[in-house]
Amino acid sequence: MESKASNGAGVVYFCDMSDTVQQIKDRLSIVDVVSQYVKLERSGTSLRARCPFHAERTPSFFVSPERGTYHCFGCNVGGDIFSFVQEIEGLDFKGALKVLAEKAGVKIVYEHSRSRGADKEEKDERDRLFELLETSTIFYTSRLNDAAKQYLKERGIAGATAKEFRLGLAGEGWNDLIDYLKGKKFSEKEMLEAGVARHSDRGGVSDKFRNRIMFPIADSAGRVVGFSGRIFPGTTSPSDSATGQVERTDGGFVPPKYMNSPETTLFHKSRILYGFDRAKLAIRKHNCAVLVEGQLDLLASHQAGWGNTVAVSGTAFTPEHATLIKRITDNLVIALDADEAGIKAAGRAARAALQIGLNVKVARLPSGLDPADLILKEGKDSWSKAMREAKDIVTFLLDVLQEHAKSTDNFRRSVEGIVLPYLADVSSPIAREQYVREIAKRLGVSEHSVSEALAKLPKTPLTDPSLRTGAHSSTGTPPAALTKDGSYGRAQHAFSILLWQKQLPKPQLDTEAYELELQESIGEDALKKLKALPESEQEKLRFGAERLYGKSGSLKAEAKSLIDVLLKERLSRELADAATALKKAEEKGDEKEVGVYMSVCNMLTTRIAELARKV
Ligand SMILES: [Zn+2]
Repeated sequence: MESKASNGAGVVYFCDMSDTVQQIKDRLSIVDVVSQYVKLERSGTSLRARCPFHAERTPSFFVSPERGTYHCFGCNVGGDIFSFVQEIEGLDFKGALKVLAEKAGVKIVYEHSRSRGADKEEKDERDRLFELLETSTIFYTSRLNDAAKQYLKERGIAGATAKEFRLGLAGEGWNDLIDYLKGKKFSEKEMLEAGVARHSDRGGVSDKFRNRIMFPIADSAGRVVGFSGRIFPGTTSPSDSATGQVERTDGGFVPPKYMNSPETTLFHKSRILYGFDRAKLAIRKHNCAVLVEGQLDLLASHQAGWGNTVAVSGTAFTPEHATLIKRITDNLVIALDADEAGIKAAGRAARAALQIGLNVKVARLPSGLDPADLILKEGKDSWSKAMREAKDIVTFLLDVLQEHAKSTDNFRRSVEGIVLPYLADVSSPIAREQYVREIAKRLGVSEHSVSEALAKLPKTPLTDPSLRTGAHSSTGTPPAALTKDGSYGRAQHAFSILLWQKQLPKPQLDTEAYELELQESIGEDALKKLKALPESEQEKLRFGAERLYGKSGSLKAEAKSLIDVLLKERLSRELADAATALKKAEEKGDEKEVGVYMSVCNMLTTRIAELARKV
C-alpha cells in the first residue's frame, strides 16, 4: 500500500506505508497495545478481557499473541493493532498509524515524490485539510507577540506551557493567514472547509480568526483539527472577525470570549476533547480524568501537575466525550466554574458521564473562581486539594442544594426534582443504594420512601442506546458457525479447527491428514467455499475454535467425531439422492439403471451403518 503525505510547503512526499506498518508490527505485540487499555487475563493459549467496545460482565474479548489479533464474541469486532487503536481512539487509519509509530519508536519515512504536478489531484482531501491546519498552527505560533505573551503570563501560563500546547496569535489583518496559505498553494475552498476562513462581506474570503490568542485543538493522535481563539486585552484595534463589527464595551456589540472553528469533516465538537491527545497517558496512569471548561483552565491544571485534564470547547460535555474517556478510565472528576452556570453545566456533564458508566466526582471550587484563577491566586496546592476533596455527584448536589435551600420543604422538592434523576442513571445497584441511604438521612425520611419516589420517576431514555456500549451494538450472539444447525454450520466448525491448528507452531492435530478427511466428509466444493471466506471471517473462526478447544485435552477425539458426523451427513444426502434416482429408474423401467442405483444405495447404507456404530 502506498500513500502520500506532504509538508506545508506543498512539496509532496511518498510514504511507503506497508513498510512502516510491518516495522510497527515487528516492534509492538497485540498484547503491548491492548493491555494499555484493558486488563488482560490468561485463558488457555489466548488472553481475554472484558470487551472495551461493549458493556459486559463476563469476558468475551479474546486476544491471540501468536496471530497478533483480537476478537470479541459479544459484539463481533476483531482485527489487529491498527484496527484496535482506530476503534478505541476514534481515529482513522492514518491517525492510528501515527499513534502506533510513536509508541513503537518507528519514524514514518517519507520519500520525495518524482512527479509533483500529478500528485495534487491524487492527494487525499483529508490529508490536505490536516496539512492546512498544521500549516496554520505553525503560522499562528510564529506570530505570538509580546502583548499576547504578557497576557498569558498574567493569567499564569508559563512560556514553556504555551510552547508545548502550540499557542499562537491571530493578528489584526483581514487576510494574514489566507495570504500565507495561498503562498503555500492552498485553495480558498480548502481554507473554508478547514474552518480557518470565512466569506467576507465584499466577496472572496477573509480570515475567520482575528485579534485572538489561538489554541489548536487536536484529535487523539495529536493532529490539529480546529482552533479555539480567545480575545485578550491589549490588542490595538479590537474587532470581531465573525461580523466585522467593532468591539464596544459600552453596551454595544461584544464579541464572544472564545470563538471556535465550525464543525468540519475533521472537527466534530461532540467527539473532540481539548487536550485529550496530551492527557491520555496520564489519564491511564492515574486511572482518572479531570474535566474543566476552558483552554486556560486546562493549561493551568496541566501546569499544576494534573496532566490528566481535558476540556470541552464550545460545546457541552456529551455522551460521546464520555465514551472517549471511558475507554481509558472509569473515573472522572468534573471541575467547572463555581458559579450557577458552572454548577448546572457540571450537572449535565455528570449525567452524560453516568449514563456511559463512568464514576463521577465533582470538585467544588471556591465561589467565583474558575480553575485558572484558583491556581493563580491560591497556588497549585489549593487545586490539588479541590481535586482530592472532590465528592461524588449526589453528595455534591445535596451539599449545594442544602446550602441554598430556604426551607426543608424547598430542599425536599429540589432533591426530588434534581438529585433523584441522577440516581436513575447510576448503573451500580450498590452505589444507588448508598445514595438512597444518604438522601434519606439528609431529608430525615425513610429509605423506603426515597426508593418509592425514585421508582415513580419517568424513565429517561438515552440519546443513543448504542453509546452505552461504545461504537457497536451488542447482539450477544455467539459466532454463527457454532450455533447454526445443520451441516453448513458444522462444516464451518470443523474448518475452524483446521484454521486454528494450522497456524499454531505445534499443532495437536496432523493438519494435512485432517484437511483430507474434512475434504472427504464435506466435499471439495464446500471446502473451497470455506477457504474463500474473507480473512476477517477466518480469523473469527480461529478465535472460536481456540475458545472451544484451547483448554480441551481431547481435541483429537472431538475433531474425529465431528468429521464422522459430517461424513455421515454427506453420505445420507447422497443416499437420499440415489434413492430418488432409483425410484425414477424403476418408474421408467430401466433395469440397468435400477441395478446401478440399487448397488449405490446398498453401499451407502453399509457405510452409514458403519459410521453410526462409531458416532
Ligand atoms: Zn465486544
